[in-house]
Amino acid sequence: MSPPVLSIVVPCFNEADVLPETIRRLDGLLADLAARKQLDAKSYIVFIDDGSTDDSWNIIRQHHDRSDRIKGIKLSRNFGHQPALLCGLLAVEGHCDCSVTTDADLQHRIEIIERFLERYVAGDEIVYGIKAKRNDPLLRRVTAKLFYRLMSCLGTQTIPDHADYRLLGRNALAALAQFRESNLFLRGLVPLLGFRSSCIRYDVEPRLNGRSKYSWHKMFALAIAGVTSFSIVPLRLASAVGLLVVLCSFAAAGFSVWAYMRGSVVPGWTSIVVAVYFFGGIQLCFLGIIGEYLGKLVIEVKRRPRYLVEQRLD
Ligand code: UDP
Ligand code: MG
Repeated sequence: MSPPVLSIVVPCFNEADVLPETIRRLDGLLADLAARKQLDAKSYIVFIDDGSTDDSWNIIRQHHDRSDRIKGIKLSRNFGHQPALLCGLLAVEGHCDCSVTTDADLQHRIEIIERFLERYVAGDEIVYGIKAKRNDPLLRRVTAKLFYRLMSCLGTQTIPDHADYRLLGRNALAALAQFRESNLFLRGLVPLLGFRSSCIRYDVEPRLNGRSKYSWHKMFALAIAGVTSFSIVPLRLASAVGLLVVLCSFAAAGFSVWAYMRGSVVPGWTSIVVAVYFFGGIQLCFLGIIGEYLGKLVIEVKRRPRYLVEQRLD
């Protein structure tokens, strides 16, 4: 069997600080693996510039001029990590045997790619990179852990401690291309594809340079997309709590009638006010949850493009 053609997909948002080093290392890795006949020499790297405002695109263009292995796609604005990843994956689909997605800051050890390939050659269509030791700040680690726990409580299959560092084979890429949703959460989508898969653990490195491009706001939006596009349990919860409150109110009504008949009714201001606050709060909270899903539905129904390409360097 001839060695596979690998594409490495790297989304970049204002990564000029790290890109030269990242390109040098990834390019070196491909050259090395090709020399050792683990990869076809036609393997390549695609950088997706997700609306950077710094020099990222120029750097990608300069390296593209020098090497056949470096390709680039420039999005028309910042669409976010997930749309940028999808753009890369759909661009390489049909043009490689397998594809690895990774970050521009090389936090995910690229030496692991060789082990991804071994699993791929052994027949796995999907290979997940799993963070064994994370270098993130404590708050990030705790919120990530809480999020994975919430997802599993809500009945969504995600791979804990896996962050979009994975290999997808040709068939998995073709399957992924059939999903049309706008609310992207690839970590939830990929396990839905099926196929034979395996996991490889690695230690996370500190960022090469610069700051995280995932603001808390982007992280929160990703978590909401994860929950709302894979689980309707929060909606069911709203119905369940509603039902429970109705049952309780029957009991309360019974009690009131009983108290009235005994003639021991008191002014009862406190209980009324507490009940108003309590039910007002519950109703607003669940209206919010329903609104969140409705909002997602509005976005899905519009079928807007998930990203727009401004320029390609093939
Ligand atoms: N990224 C992107 N668009 C964004 C935010 C991030 O393409 O809107 C890219 C970023 O350039 C990097 C990857 O997504 O290659 C992961 O981001 P980062 O390393 O900043 O996240 P962290 O590792 O801190 O979670
Ligand atoms: Mg990072």
